[in-house]
Amino acid sequence: MTTVVYVQQSSVSPYSRTVALLLCLFLGGFGAHRFYVGKSGSGILLLLLSLCGFGFLWFIIDLIIILAGSFTDSMGRIVSSWDGSPKSTTPIIVTPPSPPPHPPQPPVPPQHFPSPPPPQKQADEMFCNTCGALVKKDVTFCRHCGAALQQ
Ligand SMILES: [Zn+2]
Repeated sequence: MTTVVYVQQSSVSPYSRTVALLLCLFLGGFGAHRFYVGKSGSGILLLLLSLCGFGFLWFIIDLIIILAGSFTDSMGRIVSSWDGSPKSTTPIIVTPPSPPPHPPQPPVPPQHFPSPPPPQKQADEMFCNTCGALVKKDVTFCRHCGAALQQ
């Protein structure tokens, strides 16, 4: 039996913190790290600020935020994983250990139930000749064994 468990890590971004940090280091002035995590809007804004000469401030702040592990992607998830493995979508196969093999069960001997004490025979009842069950006299076949009753 195999159970597939989807680990919910909705608060952790599948984006790599390492990639975001490197992008911010080398291309931060162009907002590359923001494009990387899907924040293209603020990435463009950062790019425009850089063209005006103000982008480096934002870039430094973003660098600090990434280093501090508080950088978030476009979904608001924290880019905290250094390897960036998308854990939220990776199914983890959980295979429980197989139970120890059962020893072969000895064949169950046919149950010989002790015969119940013969019920009190009523006036309109009779015993089946085949199985000995108490049956109504007005039935044609025994309701226990199905044998035709000899009236
Ligand atoms: Zn019978």
